[in-house]
Amino acid sequence: VIILGLSALLIVFTKFCLFYIIRTIIQQKKLTELKDDFINNMTHELKTPIATITVAIEGLQKFNGLNDPEKTQRYLQTSRNELSRLDGLVTKVLNVAAFERKKVVLIKERIAIDELMNELIAAEKQKTAKEVSITYINRDGITAIEADKMHLRNVMLNLVDNAIKYATEPVDIEIDLTKQHKYAVFSIKDNGMGIPAKHIKHVFDKFHRVPAGNVHNVKGTGLGLNYVKYMVEAHGGKISVNSKVNKGSEFTVTIPIKNG
Ligand code: ADP
Repeated sequence: VIILGLSALLIVFTKFCLFYIIRTIIQQKKLTELKDDFINNMTHELKTPIATITVAIEGLQKFNGLNDPEKTQRYLQTSRNELSRLDGLVTKVLNVAAFERKKVVLIKERIAIDELMNELIAAEKQKTAKEVSITYINRDGITAIEADKMHLRNVMLNLVDNAIKYATEPVDIEIDLTKQHKYAVFSIKDNGMGIPAKHIKHVFDKFHRVPAGNVHNVKGTGLGLNYVKYMVEAHGGKISVNSKVNKGSEFTVTIPIKNG
């Protein structure tokens, strides 16, 4: 009986070990694939703006574009846009690297929320070549939120950026701000391609990108939403998403209105 019992135990133990080993291998493989995708994406993301800026500068040198004010402006504007994209990208990667080492310190201040949102929406509209309509309604008249301005702006920027990136034209984005108890609740709703059900719970994972539709043509790192979730939670808030393929997505962010 003892030998039988021990054998049974050994079998269960072996099975458990096998299961554990296989699961670890699958997880590692998935992570390696995600990292490979990330490196490919980043290579593309970093090389494209550099190539565009190089061409713009070469153009200015070669055709003596400085004598042609209109051309000069165009080349300079292109370079500025690409540099701002590079800056955003580098900031995104550095932010993730920093918060992984738990070095993020929030510097909270009173933020005039309408001012921040309107400035950010104007910047986003200017950045895109798509036809975009963005409406922002502050339904309960929240005047200020105590938060880290740079990070709150980045959070909103990432969400609006995605809403534009993963949308088909004409892009229609609705941002609603309401007050629920002590929280400011932002809803960012788009009419884009949506997120398939099985990917919804992974969109906040690092490097995760939905491998569907024209996503391969859409530039990205898979880091944005991971950063957004981290920052929202660091502020004592929450983020969730509702989405339907070909209909659109709605991200909901709650942030405490007052510090502490
Ligand atoms: P990325 O740099 O790829 O945009 P994110 O972390 O911001 O990285 O988003 C992760 C993935 O979630 C995206 O690659 C995309 O597949 C999906 N996604 C995010 N926002 C939206 C949205 N508004 N509509 C559809 N898909 C989205």
